[in-house]
Amino acid sequence: MFFLKRLRRSRLARREFPPMWRGIIERNVPFYRMLSLPDREELLRHTRILLAEKYFEGCGGIAVTDEIRVTVAALASLLLLHRQTDYYPFLSSIVIYPDEYVGERRRWDDAGVVTEGAELRVGESWEQGTVVLSWRDVLLDAESPDDGFNVVLHEFAHQLDLEGRITDAGGFLVASPWREIFTREYEQLLADDEAGRETFLDPYGAESPAEFFAVAVETFFEMPAGLKEHHPRLFEALGEYFGQDPAAWGRGG
Ligand SMILES: [Zn+2]
Repeated sequence: MFFLKRLRRSRLARREFPPMWRGIIERNVPFYRMLSLPDREELLRHTRILLAEKYFEGCGGIAVTDEIRVTVAALASLLLLHRQTDYYPFLSSIVIYPDEYVGERRRWDDAGVVTEGAELRVGESWEQGTVVLSWRDVLLDAESPDDGFNVVLHEFAHQLDLEGRITDAGGFLVASPWREIFTREYEQLLADDEAGRETFLDPYGAESPAEFFAVAVETFFEMPAGLKEHHPRLFEALGEYFGQDPAAWGRGG
């Protein structure tokens, strides 16, 4: 099975990337223009494979277009560059809403009580194979690649976490020395957030180790120079994990 999958992927990757799709990426994904030429080619290969393997579904009255599929897949491919990847193996479908949507809130507290309710969301990532995204937020976040927020990078970082077993509810499972670095940085964010101190990292990362990882990934790609300055060891650990140095990309060019 694995051999067939690899064969199919390498055939797909050799095909010419449709110029229409490349145009969509050039327009909607400024990250693409910051990459070196070989990295752009690699990103297109990953994009093509994700588009072939993942199912996109529109919700809330939106029809899924090539623009939506290609933009989301290209952003998700940024996290796959330079790494051995199995293309988000736990993910099968990507659900797209036109805008913020009302998500169902279901939380179990320590006593096993479920609280249900509704809240507005821009995205979510499920363990059972689904990522949900607000298309409006995908586009807005893609347009500004340097404000620290990118819902696609965030939700797909959760998928990487699932795949690589990076966190669980209790903490960080990655091997040392990363575990020490992630744990110390997470606890610092938690302490700063509780004390009401201003933090460079989005305090949403203090919610859980999984959110910390997703926020750190967003920040690594969107504000690499700041992350390197304020959290050099975290920057270095993520740089090793991704095999990329977004601080060296030509930004604003
Ligand atoms: Zn999250």
